[in-house]
Amino acid sequence: MDAKIKEFIDGVRMKNPGEDEFLQAVEEVVETVWDFYQENPHYQKAKILERMTEPERVIMFRVPWVDDSGEVQVNRGFRVEFNSAIGPYKGGLRFHPSVTLSGLKFLGFEQTFKNSLTSLPMGGGKGGSDFNPKGKSDNEIMRFCQAFMSELFRHIGPNTDVPAGDIGVGGREIGYLFGQYKKLRNEFTGVLTGKGQEFGGSLIRPEATGFGAIYFVREMLAAKGETLKGKTVALSGFGNVAWGAAQKAVELGGKVVTLSGPDGYIYDPEGVSGEKIDFLLELRASNQDVIQPYAEKYGVEFFEGKKPWQQKVDVAIPCAIQNELNEDDCKMLIENGCQLIAEASNMGCTAEAAFLATEKIIFAPGKAVNAGGVAVSGLEMSQNSMRFNWNEVEVDKRLNEIMINIHKVCVQYGTELNGKVNYIKGANVGGFVKVADAMIAQGVV
Ligand code: GLU
Repeated sequence: MDAKIKEFIDGVRMKNPGEDEFLQAVEEVVETVWDFYQENPHYQKAKILERMTEPERVIMFRVPWVDDSGEVQVNRGFRVEFNSAIGPYKGGLRFHPSVTLSGLKFLGFEQTFKNSLTSLPMGGGKGGSDFNPKGKSDNEIMRFCQAFMSELFRHIGPNTDVPAGDIGVGGREIGYLFGQYKKLRNEFTGVLTGKGQEFGGSLIRPEATGFGAIYFVREMLAAKGETLKGKTVALSGFGNVAWGAAQKAVELGGKVVTLSGPDGYIYDPEGVSGEKIDFLLELRASNQDVIQPYAEKYGVEFFEGKKPWQQKVDVAIPCAIQNELNEDDCKMLIENGCQLIAEASNMGCTAEAAFLATEKIIFAPGKAVNAGGVAVSGLEMSQNSMRFNWNEVEVDKRLNEIMINIHKVCVQYGTELNGKVNYIKGANVGGFVKVADAMIAQGVV
């Protein structure tokens, strides 16, 4: 690593001790935008990178609530308002026991670049809680969401900060959060996205991250003169992202052979499709584990405690959580003939795995691949502002155009001298430019 980059990263490390995920994300961005940064002294003069790596505001709060047995529970809530140079803070809320400030800072930082790539006017933010929704009753989920919003409401608003879902937060939770916001503020606004369709939600929003990821993969393959038709695809997870990805991959002729849960994965040589996806969705809707029942119902193998990356596939798409695909997994995928890895989860690959995949095959990072989710959130904000709803065809068309454009931006900024596209660099520089220029235009604030 260049000594100057190292000096910069060390400075960020000193200010953020022990925040490994945040540092991992910062390091990846700084390394890839560095040359561009050096070529543009006005960015350096304005200390753009120093400012971009510091959140504008961090809110941390207590979330007390009462469980079904009458016992008081205390969780911690966060909202990291990272960067508002190009629009109101925008990004999901994650409810998961692993949630920490470092994790949310990494996600808010990434979100700033991702949102910029969508070309829509959205800044970067992220929030959540260490609350574990697993095994909680519907009433407990509602009470927790109400308690969480009882503090968050004073920090957000349709022109200030617009949260949405993420891991552990889907349509149901957004509904409860919105209900509480509306009650406390006495106003009906587009403050959250991913809302139900009856109260301002956008069509295609639930599927958007998965659909967008596959549109992006389609563009990556097209750049090599290929298509998804007949290609085997390994997906991990079966949450907000994987089901849309599975559906769209199948629609474009791919064969989805793996899905996973926290305890292991299934391998379905016939491919997960149609009726099987409906079965999974039904289980999910009733808050149940989906992977093992799938294995039992369709007689396919369940690999307990294992990750799907040990299978022979053409395309691998991590859709679950950060750093779920490591260097060994990546080596195994490449040895088995995998041609493409695309992160549908945020930072789904470790830094080493992402580097190896970029060198040996083609790799694209989450901030480009999974931007479809927040892009349709942006379209939901537009529809709310107009007090109007676009139909499914209109939203899907716009999503598709946005993903095609993100791919073009990656090619524009990421094409190396040998003609190969470095998608990490392309996405980072492409996302950086708009935010940096807006920050410069707005002065030192
Ligand atoms: N949580 C999603 C993401 O990581 C969506 C955020 C949003 O829609 O605001 O991009």
